[in-house]
Amino acid sequence: MDPVIIVGSGPVGLTLALALARQEVPSVILDEGPGKDEQRLARTVVLREDTVALIERLTGFPLSEAGFRWAGWRSMRRKQVMREVRFDAQGDDAEGATGAAGPEGQEEIAAPLHIAQHVLTGALRQALAGERLVKLAVDNRLDAVEQESSGVTAHTRGPKGTWWRGSYLVGCDGPRSTVRKLLDIRFPGRTAVERHAVAALRTELPWPDQALLHRVPPWRTSGPSAGEVTGRPLSDGVWRLDWLLPPGKDLVTPELLLTRIRETLAGWTEGQTPPYELLDTGVHTVHHRLARRWRVGRVFLAGDAAHLLGALGTQGLDEGLRDADNLAWKLALAWHHGPHEALLDSYQAERRAVVAARLRAADQALPLVRGGAGLRAVVPGSARGHDSLLTDGHLGRGVLGAPGAYADSPLAPRHIEGEVPVDTPPGAPVVDVGVTAEDGSFVRLRDRLGHGALLVVLVAPGTGVWERKHWVTAGVMPRLAAAVTALPHPAELLVAESYPGAAAHTVLLVRPDGHLVTALSGVRPADLYAAAEATLGGPAKTEATAGSR
Ligand SMILES: Cc1cc2nc3c(=O)[nH]c(=O)nc-3n(C[C@H](O)[C@H](O)[C@H](O)COP(=O)(O)OP(=O)(O)OC[C@H]3O[C@@H](n4cnc5c(N)ncnc54)[C@H](O)[C@@H]3O)c2cc1C
Repeated sequence: MDPVIIVGSGPVGLTLALALARQEVPSVILDEGPGKDEQRLARTVVLREDTVALIERLTGFPLSEAGFRWAGWRSMRRKQVMREVRFDAQGDDAEGATGAAGPEGQEEIAAPLHIAQHVLTGALRQALAGERLVKLAVDNRLDAVEQESSGVTAHTRGPKGTWWRGSYLVGCDGPRSTVRKLLDIRFPGRTAVERHAVAALRTELPWPDQALLHRVPPWRTSGPSAGEVTGRPLSDGVWRLDWLLPPGKDLVTPELLLTRIRETLAGWTEGQTPPYELLDTGVHTVHHRLARRWRVGRVFLAGDAAHLLGALGTQGLDEGLRDADNLAWKLALAWHHGPHEALLDSYQAERRAVVAARLRAADQALPLVRGGAGLRAVVPGSARGHDSLLTDGHLGRGVLGAPGAYADSPLAPRHIEGEVPVDTPPGAPVVDVGVTAEDGSFVRLRDRLGHGALLVVLVAPGTGVWERKHWVTAGVMPRLAAAVTALPHPAELLVAESYPGAAAHTVLLVRPDGHLVTALSGVRPADLYAAAEATLGGPAKTEATAGSR
């Protein structure tokens, strides 16, 4: 079988290649560039718990140590602190001293990780260097794609340009995606929804390890349009500051940027501008766009090639990494066992719906949040509501930030009799609880993801204190082990002391990308089988019976 062709060695393409390799699928990455990353401190990303875990699992690299986890978050309006969230050492958050109530049903979240993009891609490239199943072909610009029922052919230009043969092709080639254009897929949306002037600098601020959102700062020396500022710490005393620019295409001159830096630092330290070292600058223009289709036959789109977002704290790269995680196990199944149309189609159905919902939420919130004093005056309490919305976006919770759930997925099993509710709704990412693996080792649930296997987790209080040999042949275990062996796809049986909202003997079925399929009350082999089969796209159909695309 031919390798999967991945176009683009940005963070999404590299992640997809590694995720495929972990499932024994070879790939070739084509990139028009030299395969090296620009070292830019103004190009940073904020990753949430699930995507940090994904990258750490794939690379074995301690990303958390290379990036910076915020100790807290403060949102200010003029001089008043509107909202403060502090994370404890474990990453659970606790509302600060400002008395601002958290949103109803607020879940505990880990502190986001702020990291320079080149550090992230550096970790991915390092992991790929020793990977026998991935070939990186630099200086190869894709300029043609053809596909037929048995595979894909791609052509590249450049000094080493040639023809490539693949089983599937994934366009991870960024916002101006050639793959998307060659497939004639529309990319509608809004241009320049927000523009930010960005500076990376080293300095000391009064909140050494807290991120800060300052709406309507009281200083106005660089003109009436000086608006919202975000300050996000990285390690080594480095900060990324973003100034929301007024609509339009006005150039951000170096003089204007320096004035903003000085007035902002002086404003925050309530006096003279503190010493600072300017490290990098840039302009980050946020567009909101969504490709109409993410799959055409054997060709897929992922990352910025499929979607652009970024206003109000939403993080485009987080979504791109989730695309790679979602697509990898489906492509791996197709690569090893032949194409399964419903399973491959579910990539677009699941991921596009989640990103569309995020874009809709941001588009609806934008006029309210940026609406100015007029709107705030007529909607009492709205300023506090907007601060809470923005905090959610930046911290990775609520409609703007929480990882999406695939509740309406075509893969969701229907009519599972023994289904019971737990704190994680079906389709949402599971909580990373401690589990005992089949070899008796104590591991995290997330460590077992990404190998292509389904996970079956039995909630069995008390098992953590006994050696595995004492309970593995007792109680419900033999029946459950037999049911797991009989599943239509390899599955790993794990045992957890507890799971949020789950009674003893609840059985969880988890997808290879960590989303919950269902929770069952006890050992129910028929339900477990039906749920697993639905997750794999239902009974397999051949390409001929599924119809041509
Ligand atoms: C200043 C700045 C600040 C940013 N801040 C944030 C932030 O805070 N949070 C966030 O989430 N995102 C941020 N971003 C955006 C983030 O960098 C992108 O979302 C991310 O790089 C997308 O990753 P990707 O792998 O999808 O695409 P890309 O990183 O764009 O990678 C695409 C790759 O495809 C290759 N390629 C393109 N066309 C072809 C072709 N025809 N043939 C072969 N190869 C091709 C390119 O060489 C490139 O290597 C910022 C960007 C900038 C510039």
